[in-house]
Amino acid sequence: MYRSHNCGELRMDHVGQEVTLSGWVQIGRDLGGMTFVDLRDRYGITQLAFNLDDNADLCMQARKLGREFVITAVGKVRERSSKNPDRPTGNIEIEVTELKVLNAAKTPPFTITEETDGGDDLRMKYRYLDIRRNAVKDNIIFRSKLGLETRKYLTSQDFVEIETPFLIKSTPEGARDFVVPSRLNPGQFYALPQSPQTFKQILMVGGMDKYFQIVKCFRDEDLRADRQPEFTQIDCEMSFVTIEDILNTFEGLTKHLFKYTLDIDLGDFPRMEYDEALKRYGSDKPDLRFDMEFVELNDVAQNAGFSVFDDAELVVGICAEGIADSYSNKDMKKLTEWMQRPQIGAKGLVYVKFQADGSIKSTVGKFFDDDQLRAWGAKFDAKPGDVLFIVSGEAEKSRKQLSELRLEMGRRLGLMKKGDFKPLWVIDFPLLEWDEESERFHAMHHPFTSPKQEEIEKMLNGDHETMKSLKADAYDLVINGAEIGGGSIRIHDRELQSKNFDLLGFTKEEAEEQFGFLLGAFEYGAPPHGGLAFGFDRLCAVMNGQSSIRDFIAFPKNNQGRDMMIDAPSPVDQTQLNELKLELGEIETKEEA
Ligand code: ASP
Repeated sequence: MYRSHNCGELRMDHVGQEVTLSGWVQIGRDLGGMTFVDLRDRYGITQLAFNLDDNADLCMQARKLGREFVITAVGKVRERSSKNPDRPTGNIEIEVTELKVLNAAKTPPFTITEETDGGDDLRMKYRYLDIRRNAVKDNIIFRSKLGLETRKYLTSQDFVEIETPFLIKSTPEGARDFVVPSRLNPGQFYALPQSPQTFKQILMVGGMDKYFQIVKCFRDEDLRADRQPEFTQIDCEMSFVTIEDILNTFEGLTKHLFKYTLDIDLGDFPRMEYDEALKRYGSDKPDLRFDMEFVELNDVAQNAGFSVFDDAELVVGICAEGIADSYSNKDMKKLTEWMQRPQIGAKGLVYVKFQADGSIKSTVGKFFDDDQLRAWGAKFDAKPGDVLFIVSGEAEKSRKQLSELRLEMGRRLGLMKKGDFKPLWVIDFPLLEWDEESERFHAMHHPFTSPKQEEIEKMLNGDHETMKSLKADAYDLVINGAEIGGGSIRIHDRELQSKNFDLLGFTKEEAEEQFGFLLGAFEYGAPPHGGLAFGFDRLCAVMNGQSSIRDFIAFPKNNQGRDMMIDAPSPVDQTQLNELKLELGEIETKEEA
């Protein structure tokens, strides 16, 4: 009754057939004697044709159709006189004989086209309209396919998909929990999982030696651009495995996903130690689509009387190719200011321009002669036309700053090519991070991560300084500078786990109170195990060369964590609060807050 075909499938082969199509009116064009309507559904767009001379009533009816009206059209497929090669259905049109309006529509608040004029919040408020746009629709369909391929691959490797609860007790992954009051237990709260971490470890103790789940996780973090309070992971855990087994298994998964959704063969993934990544790229998630590696200059740049360098822990630079003549003094000044913004916080930016004519221009020309600067250039293999950018100061900060500049230059020079994928395993992360401010250790990954086998003895018996240098069996999968996944080999021994909680500042009682169930489980035959989780939303975005995860989520939240469509969060009724035995106290109204 509604459709014999969809709006994306009719071709020359169908010419002469009578068909019924249903969909939304994309646009109407009235050319006097002829009226054309583009009819759209999930599958594509088909042109409907109405001839004034043949059927004046029908033609008048077609002219009244507004954008996004839902209609059914019956008619005959015919060859188009002016074809549209950009559209799969562009060779044919439907000579309509019957037209039915199923539902009228108000004029949409933004255009439903590839490039829309709608702002983010407006698009989210009217998400049902946004989802009609190819840009969003295709992403959501891609996501579905990626989920399916994930399940195919992992089940083919004997993984079992197991659901874990959403109403749990807090798991410390470093963010705040969303809490849910319990009506039956007044004054008590569940937490929504930041990840199923402890549950999947318990499943290993339960003998389910290969677990996975495509699962929602919840983190009440301060919202940075492109963070969602709820997001999805491909969460995995395996027993009786070494780090090698895990990296190989999930390299296999990643290759499968690229192959079966994008038809791209990723070669074997390189591996890099965390320390090396920081030294060479200033980042634990380097974008390897381009080189621009860091070169340290302490030996050649210090002790020449330039105090900024002399006082620095690290003098480090990158070489941007071929921009010496196109970057004016003004451009350089702008770039310096860009580096000095609070987000980056560099004190300044030194540059050395090797101009095409062989001359050299530098902000430190007073302190270093051309021969010295040329010697610097040689360390970078710089050619005429290249520019060195150099920062200095505390090592960690300088590396971070230069890493930002490296990425910015990569963007400006067009080195981050779409369709180019450079995966990387970053391995051997530190176990603990010392926080000067709170004078405490934090878990670099999470508290269940194991130190490397050869570090266990040091961890159990070493002093405070030793703890700072412990390396973990923890790894991240990075693609094109985005962290796609991370995980670790876990501690499976009660004593070592207790020691870790102790280092992280938990008292014995706190550890018992929060993780007694896990410590207890470790006493009943816990196998060696480890795993990882992929950020599913991020993986979707990276695979499609997009920077925002939002358009891969059917109903995302905005930068303030609000769902613009249903307008959540929102106050609840007093009766609900009473049932929960919750009193709101001072936070009476939102306006006051
Ligand atoms: N639970 C960890 C996370 O959410 C992943 C893992 O260690 O498996 O990052």
